[in-house]
Amino acid sequence: MVALLLAAAIAAAYQSNDRISPTPLKSNLIKGAGTGKKVEYYYSFTAGQGEVSVTVDLKATSGSTGAEIEIFNRDGAKIFYYYPNAISTTERTAKSFVNPSRQLLILRLQFDRSAGDYQIKLGGAVELAQTTQCGAVLPDGVGVNASCVPHITNIEKFLETCPGSDPATSTILSDFEIRRENVKASFIPCTQPISKLPLKDYTDQLILLQALRVIYYMDRGMSGHLPWTKGTVYDWLKAKVHGFNITDQETAAARCCGQIDGKLFVTMKPLGNDDFNRDRRRVWIGLQGLVALIGHERRHADGIGHVTCKGSDNMDQSYDEKNLSAFGVQWWLTRAWLNGTINIGLGCLAKEKIDEIAEWHLSEAKGWREGRFCDSLPPVLTKPALVGGKCNEVQSPLTVNDSSPTGLPDLVVVRISFEPSPSQIRVLVGNAGDGASTSCYLALQSLAGDDSSLGTKQRVWSVKVPSLDPRKGFTEVIDVSPLTQTNGPWRATVDRSNTVKESNESNNSLIFPPNSAGKRESR
Ligand SMILES: [Zn+2]
Repeated sequence: MVALLLAAAIAAAYQSNDRISPTPLKSNLIKGAGTGKKVEYYYSFTAGQGEVSVTVDLKATSGSTGAEIEIFNRDGAKIFYYYPNAISTTERTAKSFVNPSRQLLILRLQFDRSAGDYQIKLGGAVELAQTTQCGAVLPDGVGVNASCVPHITNIEKFLETCPGSDPATSTILSDFEIRRENVKASFIPCTQPISKLPLKDYTDQLILLQALRVIYYMDRGMSGHLPWTKGTVYDWLKAKVHGFNITDQETAAARCCGQIDGKLFVTMKPLGNDDFNRDRRRVWIGLQGLVALIGHERRHADGIGHVTCKGSDNMDQSYDEKNLSAFGVQWWLTRAWLNGTINIGLGCLAKEKIDEIAEWHLSEAKGWREGRFCDSLPPVLTKPALVGGKCNEVQSPLTVNDSSPTGLPDLVVVRISFEPSPSQIRVLVGNAGDGASTSCYLALQSLAGDDSSLGTKQRVWSVKVPSLDPRKGFTEVIDVSPLTQTNGPWRATVDRSNTVKESNESNNSLIFPPNSAGKRESR
């Protein structure tokens, strides 16, 4: 415990939360003016596969100004950058990059003290956040009630979305600290859809944040529905719990509550290599257990403990809705999801899904009923006629760029990057299609042109790319000596010799640096 407190005192260096909770872009146009100070803004948007254009208008209030425009993928890797300069007349530049597959991207803008009016316009394969009639930007699976209060309308769709697509994330992260081994998480990477996220990237921190997002939205706008508190589950949680610390030192799944700097923290055991449960927590059947568990732990902070009976010390005396115990809260929430007292849109799902979830909720409730109470037990539950309540989801004509499956491969040069050694260049190729690709060649070309001082006439290097399954990538470091990284720009091209049909034939090439054709760029 002493070690934990010390670790808390030397928590990780501060990093702006803005990067975790960027503003979802509602419009493809960002307009503004400098503030006389150096400022930094983060936005998120989803881009489909294909070319994304970035048009920048910038001018200085006086003298000259420099701005930074960067786009990152979920791993925090920079996939586009442009550092425009301008004087007091507006300078317009148009740039573009190829986005290899549909994903959530983070846009970072930085302006200096001399920045005047600016305008950044995105075009091409950009999908903007959904706007409701209440003016709110909401993640998929969240709708609004008659008073414009957002709540979950389709839990399945909601759990496919990342925190970065959700304006509630900044609120959640300012209300609750998420720590790993006592160090505050400064960046929780995620890419949509969650079902396609590699399992190792569905981290304990991300899973917890997903559970907190469910808690935030599940009973929003309701009051008087919970027997143990007047408002929502979220407000009740926030009233006492300051954060969560995921630590290898915890032996129970979760425990409440430790103190860090005098504030209450729920400690949680990481899933470790429990791949089964990590995978399950992508969907409601798995995540509901964590949401209910957080309810259980929060109840302990109300001074309600466990008792010993029937040979176990992890028991509750009785099920009493006038004074619900920790397991009582878990049981109560489970019934509320099952019968729609708390409607998270189970009724909108496919029949097999509804049946599967109902079965699971029933078995969980039965387990607590039979195994966790000493005397009076909660009632026996049966499957309600309308599992989860009525479906309130409004079908919106959301335009998603998902083209129908073609069965064809689509090799894309995802990234060119420089290795530490000056003559080594790394190229990443991905199959963004939905069919396997056959083996082929990749050409890396220096566009330095004919220059006898470079010591070689060779301008093209070639490597073999193995066959790739859909969504798989291949990376190779190419040694271009005696040329060096500065003898660019570099163009990487997947050579299909136009003999193999691809779902997209126009994205086989990438030039790096992407702004190498521009003018007056720094760095
Ligand atoms: Zn407990």
